[in-house]
Amino acid sequence: RGLQVHFPIYRGLLRRIVGHVRAVDGISLDLYAGRTLALVGESGCGKTTVGKGLLQLVPPTGGSVRYRGQELIGLSHRRLRAFRKDLQIVFQDPFASMNPRMVVGDIIGEGLHALRILPKRADRLRRVAELLELVGLDPEAINRYPHEFSGGQRQRLCIARALALDPRIIVCDEPTSALDVSVQAQILNLLKDLQEQLGLAYLFITHDLSVVPYLAHKVAVMYLGRVVEHGPVDEVLDDPRHPYTKALLSAVPVIDPTRRRQVIQLDGDMPSPRQPPSGCHFHPRCPEVMAICRHHYPVETRLGTKRRVCCHAVAAGLTD
Ligand code: SF4
Repeated sequence: RGLQVHFPIYRGLLRRIVGHVRAVDGISLDLYAGRTLALVGESGCGKTTVGKGLLQLVPPTGGSVRYRGQELIGLSHRRLRAFRKDLQIVFQDPFASMNPRMVVGDIIGEGLHALRILPKRADRLRRVAELLELVGLDPEAINRYPHEFSGGQRQRLCIARALALDPRIIVCDEPTSALDVSVQAQILNLLKDLQEQLGLAYLFITHDLSVVPYLAHKVAVMYLGRVVEHGPVDEVLDDPRHPYTKALLSAVPVIDPTRRRQVIQLDGDMPSPRQPPSGCHFHPRCPEVMAICRHHYPVETRLGTKRRVCCHAVAAGLTD
């Protein structure tokens, strides 16, 4: 609730704080067992920082992260270890997220060793072999090195590593964006199957809206550290209400030649989270901007029971 991650900006030898990068600026999300929440937005909007803040890999500077009734923010490292096994992450780049000098058996079994769940290596390797099978790899691969695998296989290894501790929540941080399109589909299928088998909750971070309907149940659209639209996937994608969501969706190619979608071109780049624009942060790029947008950040408008949109035009009933 109200998660904030602000990074201080230091200057000079005395490291005086001269400002803050408001990477995540007060967002509220819920995750449920067996469900996927997709977090979408442009690069630099704060999606990855949300995932890391949730897992306490970067320290949040405000708000609350509750897991099964327990507040995680502010817990000591020792107390946080008890929750580490339940909360795991799969990173974007399977090439960079594994130690090239370790064999697969040790990479995947590292968490089991660190948390002393399986202190004996032979036990760990048995468990790793099971995990390799679970993610569709040959269990014999435990003695091979990461460079001996293709990109898709390496991402399977990363998923096996995340599963090793029997987690309940996995943050999937753009797990397919470094892969070829054909391999992307295989990884998405694997994630979907694992969720069905294990009842996992996913926070699926992506800049690619086209993969959202395939995997997610709900979607939250982020812009400059805040969620601007949130709701069930089919409702948001069939009838986007926030002008930013509309623009993102308009960029997704439609395969059906009988359907045409007008591409909404946004001017300029996303502003810096160090000095976000006044009022609605999206107003310098918004095709539907009004005078009020320049001075006042919109409060959340509820549409039905499940949707939330932060936009003055939606609040005033002015958008289609
Ligand atoms: Fe556009 Fe105004 Fe809505 Fe912001 S509040 S998205 S500037 S219409």
